[in-house]
Amino acid sequence: MQLIDIGLNLGHDSFDRDRDAVWQRAEAAGVRRAILTGASREHSPKALELARARPGTWFATAGVHPHHATEYTDECDAEMRALHAHPEVVAVGECGLDYFRDFSPRPAQRKAFERQLQIAVDTQKPLFLHQRDAHADFMAMLKNFDGRIGPVVVHCFTGTREELFDYLDQDWHIGITGWLCDERRGEHLRELAKSIPAQRLMVETDAPYLLPRTLKPMPKDRRNEPMHLAHIVEELARDRGEDVARTAANSTAAAEAFFRLPARAAS
Ligand SMILES: [Zn+2]
Repeated sequence: MQLIDIGLNLGHDSFDRDRDAVWQRAEAAGVRRAILTGASREHSPKALELARARPGTWFATAGVHPHHATEYTDECDAEMRALHAHPEVVAVGECGLDYFRDFSPRPAQRKAFERQLQIAVDTQKPLFLHQRDAHADFMAMLKNFDGRIGPVVVHCFTGTREELFDYLDQDWHIGITGWLCDERRGEHLRELAKSIPAQRLMVETDAPYLLPRTLKPMPKDRRNEPMHLAHIVEELARDRGEDVARTAANSTAAAEAFFRLPARAAS
């Protein structure tokens, strides 16, 4: 397998003590490249710094997650635009709306999201989006940018069938995480996973979050790692009734095209 983890929070503090070992384990498990998620003013520059350390292997996004929406000032907007001047930053986000946690007031979330949608218009980079319990506002805001933004992925999809088909109708991509492996709240995704066209399906761990609950044995520290992407792909392939190799190859091809990754030198 030559997997691409499209959502990896490798700049997270929990990886500070063993980041290289974490990546070695990921490579041994078939994970060859990753898109490192930038989701705040603090962590977006960190994602870029990491990406520059392993050119062609790690890439970054730059954005401000709805949880951090109150930090989205004019100065923050300028910082994000400066990050997007770097070719290692391949997508705008993580940004979007989260009315489930409401860590930031909703008007602030919408404002921060709108400004980042404008960055996507100006840079024509793909969008890496987060949506939770905010589907109607999310769709309405994106509609305002119809025809002006480039490709879209709704990362860590956890929604309903209706939401999924709304996204697919817009030709957007879907990111599947280990949420699929959560028998308490992800069971419906196993059925929905069959409906996602292969060329629009990508895979991600969202590590260190979302440790797949079907891992055996479960790591004691409960930290998710990029190496567990292989497990997620196995589960996903079974749900789709596909060969693992096929799901792996298709998701990699989809990610290469979506993030416009440079061709990989033969190794
Ligand atoms: Zn997210």
